[in-house]
Amino acid sequence: TTTLPPSDLNQKIRVCVRKRPLNRKELEKGEKDISPCIGTRSLHINEPKLRLDMSKYVEQHSFTFDDVFDLDTANSKIYERTALPLVNYIFDGGKATCFAYGQTGSGKTFTMLDPKHGLYILAAKDIFSLLRQSEHQHLSAWIGLYEIYQGQLYDLLNKRKKLFAREDGKHNVIISGLKEYPIDNVDKLIHVFDYGSQVRSTGSTGANDSSSRSHAVLQVLLKPKKNKKKIHGKLSFIDLAGSERGADRGEADTKTRMEGAEINKSLLALKECIRALDQDKQHTPFRQSKLTQVLKDSFLGNARTCMIATISPGGSNSEHTLNTLRYADRVK
Ligand code: ADP
Ligand code: MG
Repeated sequence: TTTLPPSDLNQKIRVCVRKRPLNRKELEKGEKDISPCIGTRSLHINEPKLRLDMSKYVEQHSFTFDDVFDLDTANSKIYERTALPLVNYIFDGGKATCFAYGQTGSGKTFTMLDPKHGLYILAAKDIFSLLRQSEHQHLSAWIGLYEIYQGQLYDLLNKRKKLFAREDGKHNVIISGLKEYPIDNVDKLIHVFDYGSQVRSTGSTGANDSSSRSHAVLQVLLKPKKNKKKIHGKLSFIDLAGSERGADRGEADTKTRMEGAEINKSLLALKECIRALDQDKQHTPFRQSKLTQVLKDSFLGNARTCMIATISPGGSNSEHTLNTLRYADRVK
């Protein structure tokens, strides 16, 4: 195999893949990892298939990304190659977004919003320590957490209050009414966040898998202490709805189909808006979904984006895994 050049941590768009380990259930069923990593940037998917005569064969697909994290990679390593460059970037006055995209159960929340290991915690630790340095003492961090469900915004830190997005005169997207907490240490952040993630997992419907049907956005704003209306930098961590939900059609009930259509629309718009970052396109379809509307300011100008596509390694998930990798492949 040829060795790829090392990937650049400061590109406008980074697209990485993370594979989670097989879980106990999958191991008990005898499932195997069908997605071997080749070096640090590529992987194969060995997709099990049936011929017309019902004999089995394997079709191999190959993909290359900015980074591919194998199943034993710790969140701290992933952090260094995904969110950390964005943390530094917002201190320089930039806007940045870090997404987890993938099938339900593939590790999006574990990667992004897990209170023990999630990237947001690792980022917060660095943000708080940077804020203590003399050159940044004029800034403070404000944290908000909201959910996008069926094209509506709900504040997860304020009793699911409905929120509205608007733009100020300086091309910033403002989430009107969002409860923002000035936070300067990790303990306080975990405390606030724990409450919010419980609100998310219960959902407006009470269904326990509701987190797979909504996008969760953790927004970190850096603002000058003397002018809280001004935004110095912005970093959003996004735990997207389960990518398989976008395909809920056919036999599903009306509500599930409507949710699926909305998720599908927002994931397609997201892909187009990220691609446009690199292309100076005249027309970017921000308005096609609430998700891209609220992130509009993070897709303009010098914004940066990192997408982490999460995949399950087992053969029974091969179709979803392929869909995830094809989506991630097209983002670049
Ligand atoms: P998603 O948010 O994509 O639906 P989760 O993050 O909830 O998926 O992950 C599903 C399960 O797998 C959880 O129990 C989680 O703790 C576990 N898991 C996910 N990724 C990893 C990983 N890299 N290492 C260990 N456990 C993981
Ligand atoms: Mg989740």
